[in-house]
Amino acid sequence: MKVAKFGGSSVASADQIKKVASIIKADSDRKFIVVSAPGKRFANDKKLTDILIGLAGSTTGSQIFEDHVQTIAQRLSGIISSLDLSDALLEELLQHLSTITEMQSNTRNDCLKAFGEDSSAKIISQYLQSIGLDAHYLNPRDAGIIVSDEPGNAQILPESFPKLYNLRNHKGIYVIPGFFGYTAEGKLTTFSRGGSDITGSIVAAGIQASLYENFTDVNSVYTVNPNIVKDPLEIDQLTYREMRELSYAGFSVFHDEALMPAFNKKIPVAIKNTNNPDQRGTMIVSEKSTKQNGVVGIASDTGFISIYVSKYLMNRQLGFGRKLLEIMEKENISFEHIPSGIDDLTVIIRAHQLTDNKEQRILEQIKEELQPDTIKVQRNLAVIMVVGEGMMNTIGIAQKATSALVEANVNIVMINQGSSEVSMMFGVEDKDMTKSIKSLYQKFFA
Ligand code: ASP
Repeated sequence: MKVAKFGGSSVASADQIKKVASIIKADSDRKFIVVSAPGKRFANDKKLTDILIGLAGSTTGSQIFEDHVQTIAQRLSGIISSLDLSDALLEELLQHLSTITEMQSNTRNDCLKAFGEDSSAKIISQYLQSIGLDAHYLNPRDAGIIVSDEPGNAQILPESFPKLYNLRNHKGIYVIPGFFGYTAEGKLTTFSRGGSDITGSIVAAGIQASLYENFTDVNSVYTVNPNIVKDPLEIDQLTYREMRELSYAGFSVFHDEALMPAFNKKIPVAIKNTNNPDQRGTMIVSEKSTKQNGVVGIASDTGFISIYVSKYLMNRQLGFGRKLLEIMEKENISFEHIPSGIDDLTVIIRAHQLTDNKEQRILEQIKEELQPDTIKVQRNLAVIMVVGEGMMNTIGIAQKATSALVEANVNIVMINQGSSEVSMMFGVEDKDMTKSIKSLYQKFFA
């Protein structure tokens, strides 16, 4: 049994949904279908989820509110009529939308956000029926997807998995909306943005699928961001750990939270293209069949800040690191990396977490509690991850990477070689990121 998840662009229009249907039809093992909300049809289009978020934020009855409702109705009606489905379905969906908008409870926002996925699943299940498949819509509550009560950031609870396993007995095809589950008290709660990947992975783990296929709009995961390097090499196979490192630093093909459920049950994940389903795509597995010790991909992301603290004999001062991190914790800031030296520590955080007020408070507390010799805050940092399982055992990778950066005339602000042995991190200034990536790509892949 396979779980196939189709992303926003795969269900953005009636034509795309027809492609989805033929993919499902082509393989009778595709029994569990997880769908996103209709995404962008063209570059400047809007995702249905974004319109729904706009609707949630507007005053009921205002012009903006009415405009959003109108846009949503048009999107759904366009899809439904082009698929030759009944008007009754459109009416049912719009009635559901109006019920949600009238809700007074604090679940209203999450219910609105989830409306896109929910409608997609209802439309697609009806369309599959209309072409003769035994397909049924399955609500995440009935599927057994039980989550924590964290709106917009729900986490799956372990009791979900045995419930999901029971779905294996079902004969036909289930179409499940992605992106949300229900708390034990029955409250609809969404995952973080892009969370339909998470649903797919949860369902795959729950039913112990032989494969989790994640259909999107690219042929595979690329070795580097195709917006930076034209036509980069495709990656055939990746381990979960490699994918985790790449998606952390900007590879958005697969949600980083979606890896864990599949990884725990060792379910292979295939990244495939709805527009080109015969392409092999990329397989994410726990162990690679062929041992390559080299670099598999290079990821990069901007928007980091570093806080550098140094103090002579820091290495002998008990509790220095703990106190520094405690100061961050009190300000509700989570850290990303902490490269350290004998007498210094750098804490790297995502820039959006550090408001001016927080920065001032943090610096004052560090001065007061730790009495450092130096504190420096550096903004506009980019992080580059050179990723590959086992690369630490391969001689010359670091030398190759640093020489690529030297050749691009880039000043390396920081190097961090995580003990995970899966990646090597370089901090550079934002302005140097593109040329760094181009040069690293040349070195490792050209
Ligand atoms: N529709 C949701 C979003 O845009 C979830 C998803 O597509 O995976 O974030």
